[in-house]
Amino acid sequence: KQSEEKDKDKADRATSEQVLDQRTRMILLQMINRGFVSEVHGAISTGKEANVYGAILVDEKTGDVIQKAIKVYKTAILVFKDRERYITGEHRFKGGFDKGNNRKMVKLWAEKEFRNLRRIYNAGIPCPEPISLKLHVLVMGFLGDKKGWAYPRLRDAVLTGDVEQQWRSMYIQLLGIMRKMFQVCRLVHADLSEYNILYHKGVLYIIDVSQSVEPDHPRSLEFLRMDIKNVGDFFRRKGVDTLSDRAIFNFITAAGGPSEEPGVSDSLEKLYETRENAADGDDEAAAELEVDNEVFRNQYIPQTLEQVYNIEKDAQKLSQGEGNDLVYKNLLADQVVQPKAQGEQGEESSDSEDDSDDGASLSSG
Ligand code: ADP
Ligand code: MG
Repeated sequence: KQSEEKDKDKADRATSEQVLDQRTRMILLQMINRGFVSEVHGAISTGKEANVYGAILVDEKTGDVIQKAIKVYKTAILVFKDRERYITGEHRFKGGFDKGNNRKMVKLWAEKEFRNLRRIYNAGIPCPEPISLKLHVLVMGFLGDKKGWAYPRLRDAVLTGDVEQQWRSMYIQLLGIMRKMFQVCRLVHADLSEYNILYHKGVLYIIDVSQSVEPDHPRSLEFLRMDIKNVGDFFRRKGVDTLSDRAIFNFITAAGGPSEEPGVSDSLEKLYETRENAADGDDEAAAELEVDNEVFRNQYIPQTLEQVYNIEKDAQKLSQGEGNDLVYKNLLADQVVQPKAQGEQGEESSDSEDDSDDGASLSSG
């Protein structure tokens, strides 16, 4: 009896280590039958939590080939523990998740990526087109060339010509995307770095958004601060004269002003003109910027909405022309200035829109 159990154990392990388990194969077959894809090709990427495969859809009439990418979340591995912090406090996942049920958890995760991707795509931010979702398998548009080569990650981008100017304009482009994600999509990426951005011909494509959270998530501002740090660190290594983390945080969260180009770039250029610690070539200013970033990164950020709202003292300070060092002063100002009904209405409409189109697409997969 013991050896029987051992065999079963082995079989289970073998299945779980297989790249595509039975269920995943069935889902892919179903997708082929339903005409979402024609052929699934090799892995573009094999990660800890998911593999991404290339696939094609052949138009039967014209013979045209459309490339797709299929992200398959791994159901057999216990790397999702760490992800709880992104789900907890997310009102879209009120039920939380059942930590004992991997399959369910991974499905939730794929769902989250699909919904976030759709918001980002609908806002016109360059990203893969969300196409279909079935359990832990997500089909999306392929970001790459006709031969099936995926665009490089920003980290691996090879630039030619006026490299310095290009890195700077990409930096500006990315800050604009971050603001638009926050203001229009109501999302903080929460794992933004040169690894989760693809690059092609001067355009940055945002990917890997399963962990992205809404601004009302209790840790969203902390995640945003982390994203800002990653982005700043990368572009500084590329020689870009970066704005302070604090200035970027305020730029992204400020409620008024444009969230679309060219207005967004204009606001950023204005920030450059008016900033106190310009770091261009000046060692002392660069050191000052570094210190300010360090202070900002260690500064208290309210973790819950109650904390924001309870700090009436701070609001009072602001109204008296003080409190400019408050990292969330824009959010606070927003609360103070904007009539409450208007804010609530905005939230509601973006929510119901999201929910209604969710229903349609989730059942189509
Ligand atoms: P992970 O969770 O493994 O980091 P990502 O979503 O970041 O998953 O995808 C991993 C890699 O797969 C990316 O770095 C990119 O090279 C490739 N990839 C992901 N999505 C696409 C896509 N839509 N088109 C082309 N390549 C993609
Ligand atoms: Mg990634």
